[in-house]
Amino acid sequence: MAERFDVVIVGAGPAGLSAGLVLARGGANVLILERGEYPGSKNVMGGVLYRHQLDELLPGFWREAPIERTIVEQNYWLMTPDSAVTFGYRTPRWADDPPNNFTVLRAKFDPWFAKKVEEAGATLITRTTVVDLIHDDRGRVVGVVAGRPEGEVYADVVILAEGVNNLLTQKAGLHDDWKMNEAALAVKEVIELPREKIEDRFGLEPGQGATVEMLGDATAGMLGMGFLYTNKESVSFGVGVLVKHLVYSGMNPNQLLERLKQHPKVRKLIEGGKVIEYSAKLIPEGGYKAIPRLFKDGLMVVGDAAGLTNAIHREGSNLAMTSGRIAGEVALEALAEGDSSSRVLCRYQQRLEETYVLKDLKKYNHANEFFDENPQFLRDYPELLSRVMREFFTVDSTPKWDKQAKIIRMVRQQRPLWRIAYDLYSMWRAIG
Ligand SMILES: Cc1cc2nc3c(=O)[nH]c(=O)nc-3n(C[C@H](O)[C@H](O)[C@H](O)COP(=O)(O)OP(=O)(O)OC[C@H]3O[C@@H](n4cnc5c(N)ncnc54)[C@H](O)[C@@H]3O)c2cc1C
Repeated sequence: MAERFDVVIVGAGPAGLSAGLVLARGGANVLILERGEYPGSKNVMGGVLYRHQLDELLPGFWREAPIERTIVEQNYWLMTPDSAVTFGYRTPRWADDPPNNFTVLRAKFDPWFAKKVEEAGATLITRTTVVDLIHDDRGRVVGVVAGRPEGEVYADVVILAEGVNNLLTQKAGLHDDWKMNEAALAVKEVIELPREKIEDRFGLEPGQGATVEMLGDATAGMLGMGFLYTNKESVSFGVGVLVKHLVYSGMNPNQLLERLKQHPKVRKLIEGGKVIEYSAKLIPEGGYKAIPRLFKDGLMVVGDAAGLTNAIHREGSNLAMTSGRIAGEVALEALAEGDSSSRVLCRYQQRLEETYVLKDLKKYNHANEFFDENPQFLRDYPELLSRVMREFFTVDSTPKWDKQAKIIRMVRQQRPLWRIAYDLYSMWRAIG
C-alpha cells in the first residue's frame, strides 16, 4: 500500500528544513525527501548565513551550530584590472551576542539543521529523488512519486523546496524554465588556508570573519559579483554572472574565477591555498516579476524554487527560511481546516507579500534590466573612480586647488557631469 503523510516536502535545504521544523512542531506527520546523500551534500552557497530568520525558529542556534566565523567586517571592492576602490564597514559589535551573520559550509551546517528537524519529529529520507507529482482527477496535487520502487507517497499538502533547478515546479505548471536574464551562473571554490594565515591576512581575531563582494573588473564588467568569505580554515571564493552576459561574452565563469585570482588585491589573500572543493550552480535573480505563482491546490513552492533571492544584498538562505516557515504555518492551517485547496494555500503568498521577502524583491524588480541597459556602472565608472582616487592620493607638487580642478577636468573628459548626475538619478529611481 502506498505511504501517506500529512505533508511531503521535496528538498532538505534551508527552505524545506524550515517548513519541516514548523510542521513537525505543529504535530503534523511530515516527510522530507532529499536526493543528496545527506542534507548539504548537493548545496552550493557563498556561505553567509543571516542570524535573524533562523533565530526565530531555533533561538540562539549559533551557540551550538557548526558555524565557521562570526562576521565583523563586510566590504565592497570596485575593481579595475590592477586597482580597487574599496568601501566597507567593520565593528566588533557584530561579534556580540546576538551576532548579525556568519559564514557556514553547507555540508556541515545543513546536516546539523536537519537533525534538529528530525528531533522535532519530521521524517527525513535522503538519496531519494522525487521524479513526479501525483494529481487527482480534479488537477489537485495529492502526492509525489519518488524515483524508487513503490515510490508513491500521498499527502494533503506537498511543499516544493527543490531549489533553483525547479523541475517539479515546472511540472506543476507553475513556472517555465528561467530565462537568460533571470538567473546567474556562479562557480565557487573552497580554498584551504591555515587559520592564523586567514586571521593575519584579513586582520581578524580568532573566530571573527570578513566578507568581500567584488564588482567591475571582477566580472570583466558583466552583471554579477565576485566574493571572498573567510571560514575557519578555508576561504570561500567565487564569481557569479548573469547567464545572458556570459552567453554573449563567450566566457565561462571558471575563466572569470581564474582571472580574478590573479588580481593583485586577491592574489595575496589566497596565496599558498589549496583548492579542496569546486562547485557551480544557478542563482535565480529575476526579481519579483520572475516569481512563479507560489501555490495551487495541494501545493506550495518555497525558497530558490520560487526565485526568492535578493542578489543585490546577497541574500537567499534567509528568504528560503522565511518562505519555508510561512508555508509550514499555512500547511498546518490547511490540515486543521481539512482544506488544502488554493482557498487556504493562497494565504502563503498573501503573507509573504507582507514580509521583507516580496517587499525587497519588488524594490529590486528592475535591477537586472537597469544594469543590463547601463553597462557604464560596472565598466566605465570603476575605471573613472580609480583614476580619481589615484589622483587624489598621489602627492606631487601640484597645489590642491589645481589638483581638484584636474580631477574635475578628468571626470568631465570621460563623462559629462550632467550624464553622471542623470546616471545616479536613474540608478536611484531603479533601485533606491
Ligand atoms: C554561488 C552561490 C553563492 C550564494 N551565496 C549566498 C550567501 O552568501 N548567502 C545567502 O543567504 N544565500 C546565498 N546563495 C543563495 C542560497 O544558496 C540559496 O538561496 C538557498 O540555498 C536556497 O535554499 P533552498 O532550500 O530554497 O534551496 P537549496 O539550498 O538549493 O536546497 C534544495 C534541495 O532540494 C534537493 N532537491 C532538488 N530537487 C529534488 C528532487 N527532485 N527530489 C529530492 N530532492 C531534491 C536538493 O538536493 C537540495 O538539497 C548563494 C547561492 C550560490 C549558488
